[in-house]
Amino acid sequence: METLVAQIKPEEVKLPLGLALFAKAGEILRNGGLVAFPTETVYGLGGDAFDPDAAGKIYAAKGRPSDNPLIVHIADVADLNEVAREIPDKAKMLMEAFWPGPLTLIFFKRQGIPCTVTGGLDTVAVRFPDNDIARAMIKSGGGFIAAPSANRSGSPSPTLAEHVLKDLQGRIDMVIDGGASVLGLESTIVDMTVDPPMILRPGFVTREMLEKVIGRVDVDAKILDAKSPVPPKAPGMKYRHYAPKAELTVFEGEPIRAAKEMRRCADEAIANNEKVGIITTDELAVHFEGLNYRSIGSRIDPDTIAQNLYRVLREFDETDVEKIFSESFALDGVGQAIMNRLMKAAGQKVVHLANDNDLSKVDRIVFLDNSDSDRAPYAAYVLENMTLPRLISIESRGMVAPFPEPICQGIQMILEKQGRRAIYHSARELSGEDIRKDTLFLTFDLKLKVKLLRKYEGIDNVYTLPEFLEEPALEIPSPYGHGEEGYEECCDIIENAVSRVAAKLSLIMLD
Ligand code: AMP
Ligand code: MG
Repeated sequence: METLVAQIKPEEVKLPLGLALFAKAGEILRNGGLVAFPTETVYGLGGDAFDPDAAGKIYAAKGRPSDNPLIVHIADVADLNEVAREIPDKAKMLMEAFWPGPLTLIFFKRQGIPCTVTGGLDTVAVRFPDNDIARAMIKSGGGFIAAPSANRSGSPSPTLAEHVLKDLQGRIDMVIDGGASVLGLESTIVDMTVDPPMILRPGFVTREMLEKVIGRVDVDAKILDAKSPVPPKAPGMKYRHYAPKAELTVFEGEPIRAAKEMRRCADEAIANNEKVGIITTDELAVHFEGLNYRSIGSRIDPDTIAQNLYRVLREFDETDVEKIFSESFALDGVGQAIMNRLMKAAGQKVVHLANDNDLSKVDRIVFLDNSDSDRAPYAAYVLENMTLPRLISIESRGMVAPFPEPICQGIQMILEKQGRRAIYHSARELSGEDIRKDTLFLTFDLKLKVKLLRKYEGIDNVYTLPEFLEEPALEIPSPYGHGEEGYEECCDIIENAVSRVAAKLSLIMLD
């Protein structure tokens, strides 16, 4: 069969181009055909949910076991009643909060939904996607589209139309190319037929977000512990899903330590003539210069990691690498969904690194900035005036500080305003002598951290302030050139951040 490919942008949905495209998609769907379409999570492969034969065609095109049910996609909340019954109030609250969006809810099914769609179950999974193209496509097909992800069973879910074509060209009638999926991981699935409701697959809508709306939510035991003997409750979660061609190993532990161990293992494998690929992040890529590495995003913005994970795994499949080493990610927020997919792809193959990068032994803190004349010395001053469980040396340095200048006028002015004594400071440039095992470096941004890691190999304990405080949104802009208000605001932010640094250090020291 020839697969028709049609490109469209969300803003074109209601223009003549869109109307013609969806007329065609609707005709295919009403005749029992299959259309792949973009959603905000990943690309779906849709067929008419009330046509028992369409589901069979979906399983055949994907090469998917038919006990693995599909999700019914709707484009209007009111349509839910046509497919599901006994809708609890908690579900209504979740729909109010998260629909349209990346949340799939499971209900008892209505008779009209064929067993082929639900894999023989008495329940049905329903989702209302947050994507104009998806909604237009659903409506064109009559409002009820059964769809799993549009990949061959065993490949990562597609986040681009080209991924769909790679897997399904010639097996389906049409692909609607609407660009890259914004989120990049499949929806969160919550079973609403039990109370408390239970998460069967982690995704962007996290347990904390759900609990804020409806109180207690349980998590399928298999998600929390892959070795749990009980089978997962979503049939699809029992499959390994996707194994890259290369052997994938995940390195768990303190990120810098993990990166160094990945580098060591990669160098060793390369010396043995093995071809190695590295999955890293913007923050740690500096450790892999000269190697075949791909950054999948920023550690302080995990959404970027979710967005790129499948694409990068697919890209490595196109190369001849034999081993892939990947960083691991914190389990909070979307991290649980990321790690769930990554660990499945790795077949749970992990290297655990003991955390002997022991901050409790730190005896010296250096705030590092581009110059050593405003943010850094002010932060050092603030921390020096706080009480810590033991005496440690607190200093500041600049990447470039050729002259022993005093702290800048702007900061002096704020200190005066605060009724504080002047700081007698002379700027110092970072030098090799500063690189000591007992030192914790805190930088004001990622660029500074990367510069430091590039310049001094083997350096430990370097964090950006947002990273150390685990506050991705924290920004401490340079006050330079922003007038009195700029300095005042900058000093306030530093004051706040440093008090949290002190609290965290106290916990570490007392541990
Ligand atoms: P996919 O869209 O490819 O991610 O696949 C749909 C996912 O939803 C699979 O993991 C299914 O196992 C799951 N699913 C669909 N319907 C149900 C249901 N009634 N009960 C439990 N899980 C379901
Ligand atoms: Mg899938």
